[in-house]
Amino acid sequence: GHDPARLAAAPELPRRPAPKAGDLVLEVDRARKEFGGLVAVNDISFSLRAGEIMGLIGPNGAGKSTTFNLISGVAPLSGGTVRFMGDRIDGLPAREIARRGMARSFQHVQLLPDMSVLENVALGAHLRSSAGVVSAALRLDRTAEASLLREAARQIERVGLGDVIDQPAGSLPLGRQRIVEIARALCCDPIALLLDEPAAGLRYQEKQALAAVLDQLRREGMSLLLVEHDMDFVMNLTDHLLVMDFGTPLAEGVPADIQRNPAVLEAYLGGLDETWSVPDAVPQGEAS
Ligand code: ADP
Ligand code: MG
Repeated sequence: GHDPARLAAAPELPRRPAPKAGDLVLEVDRARKEFGGLVAVNDISFSLRAGEIMGLIGPNGAGKSTTFNLISGVAPLSGGTVRFMGDRIDGLPAREIARRGMARSFQHVQLLPDMSVLENVALGAHLRSSAGVVSAALRLDRTAEASLLREAARQIERVGLGDVIDQPAGSLPLGRQRIVEIARALCCDPIALLLDEPAAGLRYQEKQALAAVLDQLRREGMSLLLVEHDMDFVMNLTDHLLVMDFGTPLAEGVPADIQRNPAVLEAYLGGLDETWSVPDAVPQGEAS
């Protein structure tokens, strides 16, 4: 295990000033992405305010992950603009966008299963802030290393994983692995956290636990953008939803209105994607 006393003695990392609740954090204006003849993201516009959870939902292939990639600098836009904290960020490298306070997860868990939760969370910060793990490890002196581990331990406590801090990440159930990834993203002291399908593959109780963590982060002032497939998950958690379908905005508003929106209902009933209507509870005998 790690040495809590050594970490507690390390200097704390500096924190960036947080925006005020309700401040505009992210403004996406007519974001567009074409892959050859396919318009994967067709002039999508929305904004995210500080202390808000926004959901980007829609069936598979709707363009949700691509939209995420455009915002976080992973893929270049074919058109439109993205502003973060008032500044244009479209065209900036992903690393620079991350440095400014936008943290993201990917659609599939990316943990090193044999390393501890603490090491995984601390490594995330290395990976985001440098060219690579090895060069970062060689460059950091012992104090800087301890500061980083201290920050990692703080974020692990924050998301409620203190009891498994020294366990191999791969030994945790999937729901807790997802929360490890969130702790890793929090190590960058983000203003906004972007999560791609965080509830995918989770059991009902795990989804509840994840929702509780995200709700807590919102109360602490974090701005969150969730890409989700799981309608039940976003209905109970988000302040604001944008429904995408075939790259195009279908509906936008508060969850209660989205649930009653005729275009959205039609998309459901039309069986655009039958997994939209699958209930949260896994039927008896089918639990994996
Ligand atoms: P979602 O996340 O909503 O399921 P995606 O953003 O992954 O949807 O994909 C949107 C559309 O763009 C899909 O038709 C997909 O096949 C296509 N697409 C995504 N990435 C690429 C790529 N790199 N090259 C070509 N087509 C892509
Ligand atoms: Mg996707």
